[in-house]
Amino acid sequence: MKKYLLTPGPTPVPPEVLAKEGLPVIHHRTSAFGKIFEEVNEGLKYVFQTKNDVLIFTSSGTGAMEGSITNLLSPQDKIIVSDTGKFGERWWKIAKAYGLEPVVIKENAGDSTDIQKIKKALSENPDARAVYATLTETSTGVVNDIKALGEIVSKTDAVLVVDAISGLGAQELRSDEWKVDVVVSGSQKGLMIPPGLAFASVSEKAWKLVENAKLPKFYFDWKQTRKSIPNKETPYTPAVSLIVALSESLKIIKAEGMENIWKRHQLLADATRAGIAAMGLKLLSKVPCNAVTAVLVPQGLSGSTIYKKMRDEYGVNIAAGQGEELKDKIIRIAHLGYMERFDIIIALSALEMCLIQLGYKLELGSAVSAAETVFLGIRS
Ligand SMILES: *Cc1c(COP(=O)(O)O)cnc(C)c1O
Repeated sequence: MKKYLLTPGPTPVPPEVLAKEGLPVIHHRTSAFGKIFEEVNEGLKYVFQTKNDVLIFTSSGTGAMEGSITNLLSPQDKIIVSDTGKFGERWWKIAKAYGLEPVVIKENAGDSTDIQKIKKALSENPDARAVYATLTETSTGVVNDIKALGEIVSKTDAVLVVDAISGLGAQELRSDEWKVDVVVSGSQKGLMIPPGLAFASVSEKAWKLVENAKLPKFYFDWKQTRKSIPNKETPYTPAVSLIVALSESLKIIKAEGMENIWKRHQLLADATRAGIAAMGLKLLSKVPCNAVTAVLVPQGLSGSTIYKKMRDEYGVNIAAGQGEELKDKIIRIAHLGYMERFDIIIALSALEMCLIQLGYKLELGSAVSAAETVFLGIRS
């Protein structure tokens, strides 16, 4: 069966990028690799919208999250974490694994970061070293107001650390302009390459913390990683083929342009939501993001049943909810990375057919029609 990958990571990889990844492996201490490494560094700065170096690690995105705890903090340090779902939760879980006791500001599933609560937490904890947040919370499909957080946190001694693993590319993010100190991301989402690379951009304010941070680290030591950049290499063997693939996907990104990429994701998200509404379904997210749409499953149906049926009978791989609480309550359709209008049509069409087979009442074609209406810019 032909397969369609419409999950919020991994995401589809363009054929020209896959072709590059399949080239014979080159050695990572050569000028040939150095040239590619340099290109990739420049390209990443553009995507992150930063003048700061973007550090590259061979790991999934969580490796860069863990590094953002160990490289910025010392034992007993205080941090504030905005928890808007499974990925916000990951920030404080990593911090706890290193013996810290984070101040956690938890929101209900579907709600976004409450900026006023963060402001209050910062004034109650003037010694906080950092605020950890998430750009697009993939588990609930909400977008958080990072620009507003940047305004607040930049006025304090704390640094702002943002998980943009699913948000980078899908949702507007201007790291320097919005005063975000550390932005972390991964390879298998908006960057359109397979899983295996993680990234972190680090501001001068954050490097000052790095200088004094005493938590243990070795592989993810940012000082070591930064020291290697002038030599156009990484301290340890990188995932060479992924970096070569990334050089190609960054060219595609540059050619489309970040503003256009953000607009495309907005259009795909709008069309998806219009399709969902046309089926009489509701979103979990109060402030929906442009990377993934989280849909509440109708009464009497289960999210995992729908998602498995779509995958096994139609070849359309969307995602169920994450964690016990949301597993069967929602399904998640990604519009992230190498995706276009027909990816949305495929997802909505398969969902319509599945829901009808499961006994849910809807007018066949209504979701597809609503999405097409958005694509054509026709007011309905
Ligand atoms: C996918 C994702 C992660 C985790 O990334 P891994 O690559 O699986 O380690 C973290 N945060 C967000 C918001 C994500 O979407």
